[in-house]
Amino acid sequence: MKLKNLVIFAVIYAMFLSLCGCGHVHDYKETVITEPTCTSDGLSEFKCECGESYTEKTKKEHEYESNLIKEPTCQKTGQMEYKCKSCGDTYTEVVEKSSHTYGSNKYCTVCGAKKVGSVKLPSTSYGNTYDYIRYGTVVSTCKITDLSYEWKYNTLTLYITGKKIYDYAGDTGDNVCSLLFIMYDSHGNIICSDQLMTQHVIVNETFKYYYVPTPTVLLDETEDYRIEFRDYTV
Ligand SMILES: [Zn+2]
Ligand SMILES: [Zn+2]
Ligand SMILES: [Zn+2]
Repeated sequence: MKLKNLVIFAVIYAMFLSLCGCGHVHDYKETVITEPTCTSDGLSEFKCECGESYTEKTKKEHEYESNLIKEPTCQKTGQMEYKCKSCGDTYTEVVEKSSHTYGSNKYCTVCGAKKVGSVKLPSTSYGNTYDYIRYGTVVSTCKITDLSYEWKYNTLTLYITGKKIYDYAGDTGDNVCSLLFIMYDSHGNIICSDQLMTQHVIVNETFKYYYVPTPTVLLDETEDYRIEFRDYTV
């Protein structure tokens, strides 16, 4: 009786296993039916020892080789051609202009362009109030609200412009305000310093300040400059 029960159990268990596939993990082996190319899909069959199988499309990417067909210059873009070595498919891409080749005179040896650069003014220099002191007395106070500069090789140009920001005390003739600006290179050496004077003109009843000094100083594009503004006292 006990043995009979065990046999029945074993038979049911075997049927159960064969029905659900438990205990077997498919192990598919690929057989290539058609090799893919870069222009057409291939086909592969994946088959397990148990007889289970399926097929799948396979793909192959183009194998592009680059060829510079037009050399870029500092004035014109170039062109790069990409060609698939299997099917010959081609496409081209624009190659960015090359950079200028500057000689020791700061001019491009190819096109003659002059080397230019720009540096950003430290934001802390904006909106500061400066006193103009003469003989120990504050003669006038002005607020610099708009200050910018640009430099090209050998020339630094500094602009101060603003709206009604001028406030003076004392002599009404002293409608000027002076600043000292000092420029340092990355090693802390002073390269240039100059007294900047703001003046005003009345434009539509609005004061306008201006100053455009052009100190001549040789600047290097690779340097990291620092500019400092100080009250200019006499
Ligand atoms: Zn299987
Ligand atoms: Zn191809
Ligand atoms: Zn050039």
